Amino acid sequence: MTQMKVTFLGTGDMFSFEQHHNSMLAEFGGTHLVIDFPESNARALKEYGFPLTDIENVFITHLHEDHINGVQLLGYYSQIVSGRRPRLYIHEALVDPLWSILSPGMRHTTDGERTLHDYYDIVPLPDGGTFELGGVTFETFRTTHVPGMISNGLLARGYFDYSGDSTLDQDRLIATADEVQLIFHECHMHDLVIKSHTSLQDLQQLPAEIRQKTVLMHYHDEYADAGKRAAFNQAHDLQMAGQLQSFVLRG
Ligand SMILES: [Zn+2]
Ligand SMILES: [Zn+2]
Repeated sequence: MTQMKVTFLGTGDMFSFEQHHNSMLAEFGGTHLVIDFPESNARALKEYGFPLTDIENVFITHLHEDHINGVQLLGYYSQIVSGRRPRLYIHEALVDPLWSILSPGMRHTTDGERTLHDYYDIVPLPDGGTFELGGVTFETFRTTHVPGMISNGLLARGYFDYSGDSTLDQDRLIATADEVQLIFHECHMHDLVIKSHTSLQDLQQLPAEIRQKTVLMHYHDEYADAGKRAAFNQAHDLQMAGQLQSFVLRG
């Protein structure tokens, strides 16, 4: 098994004005995968020292704006600057809706009409579809985020579980926790009920051994402050990820 380094390009929710939107870069086996591609990734990758032209593999969890508003930029940048098409792993039922969002700005070019496939090497995934990269198998799973809307999480057995945007699926987490080193889970961190997301109170119901390997992401701007996160991490067995924070997962 190959070692894996994951780095948060952003940890903010949709209404983040002081931090980048939630996205994670995983580097392993001579390749990489970026989960979601908000526009803030361009700056984050520059800060991290990973050229945008080197992005080859992106997985899209769902079509909320904070997760895809950099997909036009990446498509254009890759085509114009490096002449390449990044691979886009995405649920098969989201391919046409994604193009509906992108096409007003990407269909017409000075060289004629374009389709999504001119910009990206699309890998459509069925429900629960898997794909392999650099010797690692990634399993997608449907999440319970907004009723009627398709959203996905990602499981890399041996390495991590990534909730995507989701309410808490405690049974699934308990069933897979033993097989991963870390669980990256969204948490809105507001002291109120938000029906489409997970609260800290929800996560505190998890067994202690699961909480200890759970890292929180996709939170609101109050915790953009590193001091607030440090204080939280001291007081809880769950920990919060920060922007450009990396975690090394054993091979
Ligand atoms: Zn989101
Ligand atoms: Zn969402």
